[in-house]
Amino acid sequence: MSPGSDSAVLRRPEPIGRSEGQPLVRCRGLARTYGSGPTAVVAVHEANCEIPAGLQVALTGRSGSGKSTLLHLLAGLEQPTAGSIEWPGLHGNPAGRPAVVGMIFQGPSLLPALDVTENVALPLLLAGSSPADANQRAAESLHRLELDGLAAKLPQELSGGQAQRVAVARALASRPKLILADEPTGQLDHDAGRLVVSVMLAAAEELGAALVISTHDEDISARLSRRWTVSDGRLCTAKASR
Ligand code: ADP
Ligand code: MG
Repeated sequence: MSPGSDSAVLRRPEPIGRSEGQPLVRCRGLARTYGSGPTAVVAVHEANCEIPAGLQVALTGRSGSGKSTLLHLLAGLEQPTAGSIEWPGLHGNPAGRPAVVGMIFQGPSLLPALDVTENVALPLLLAGSSPADANQRAAESLHRLELDGLAAKLPQELSGGQAQRVAVARALASRPKLILADEPTGQLDHDAGRLVVSVMLAAAEELGAALVISTHDEDISARLSRRWTVSDGRLCTAKASR
């Protein structure tokens, strides 16, 4: 580039409403307090972060440090009590828009009256897919997680680890741009945990999605490119994992 030239003037203006290049999520001074008065708990304290497409993050921190609350805020499932959160790259708050975020909850989350395939297909149906498409995508997602044999089972017939893997299949089936996984291997043995993380990493790469996994497992943290830590509700995003 010639001396004195300004790259900004060479750039075309962004069309209004275009989301490409924008972070999927942007948080400024984001906080969530539960309760009030002397018993109030500040679960997340003034978090600042941006999640661009393609980011891989291991979210670590002790139990009770605020990981789940932060993930729920990022998914739009919790209301902040202070600060701001925006989803420019997702065209606004993903809450109430099934299949935009692939959320894997820490606890049980399958609907008990639906079988495994129906559970995995549900967000797709709610997002407007035809039943045939939704069922096909559900079957593909279950296959990736080596769960074909469980397709017709009810959640009550599954072990905790199997249910956790079905929840991963459900999150990935919708091909989300943002995958938020809350201790997704907490009930899995080492090999099953490795498979789940490999499938999530491959899916994120394929979709150009961002992936945030909260975990206590050092092996998992080492497989993700960034590590964010939460300590007493305070988020630190400074560390590279490797
Ligand atoms: P982590 O996922 O790191 O274990 P959480 O986000 O679940 O941490 O919890 C952070 C803090 O917020 C904890 O002190 C927890 O007790 C509190 N907390 C979480 N959810 C609620 C809630 N719904 N009501 C009151 N306190 C809560
Ligand atoms: Mg948690």
